[in-house]
Amino acid sequence: MTFATLGLSSAVTDILKELGYHTPTPIQAQAIPLILSGKDVLAAAQTGTGKTAAFTLPIIEQLSKGKRASATQVRCLILAPTRELASQIGDSVRTYSQGLGLRSQTMYGGVQAYPQINGMKRGADLLVATPGRLMDLFKQNAVAFDELEFLVLDEADRMLDLGFEEALNALLALLPKTRQSMMFSATYSDAVKQLAKLWLRDPEEVAA
Ligand code: AMP
Repeated sequence: MTFATLGLSSAVTDILKELGYHTPTPIQAQAIPLILSGKDVLAAAQTGTGKTAAFTLPIIEQLSKGKRASATQVRCLILAPTRELASQIGDSVRTYSQGLGLRSQTMYGGVQAYPQINGMKRGADLLVATPGRLMDLFKQNAVAFDELEFLVLDEADRMLDLGFEEALNALLALLPKTRQSMMFSATYSDAVKQLAKLWLRDPEEVAA
């Protein structure tokens, strides 16, 4: 099996070749075709399984074909529980989308907001964010969701463990209903299942 047989175009597979990714991991092999087909996905996957590429690659494939984000708008929102994870996902997104002409931004608390506000002025095709700082900047009109097409909740179980349930639900209620959503979690507690039930639409389930 190759990344091309999963449905990714050469614009994306050429980047993977350069990175030395020859074979999709099991979670990539399952999730990439589903995401490319437009399905919502609920995935059980731990760190180290290649889950970041499993959601990023099919999303950038689709984003690269559409119109770029307008000022302050976001086309794909990736939510993560901690600034370390958000920063790591942001690095991966930049690596996987190099040369595709997509703008990406990262947003998390504990650092000055000004550069993040400034970064959003030209819009973000992909925004990686933690929930608290994102809500702050939304309230300041630095971020808008009218052009949102994709939502990813990464490490959903950790977001709940860290007490983000209320913040998450408030944020997700702001997003357009017509969108494609994906949720990744290492574990499936009742709270995770409830979150999926609230925010995913008829999801396909996959496991690494
Ligand atoms: P993740 O589970 O997303 O944290 O990824 C774990 C590590 O696997 C990262 O360092 C990726 O660069 C690497 N990786 C992801 N997919 C592949 C692949 N198909 N082949 C080789 N390495 C990969």
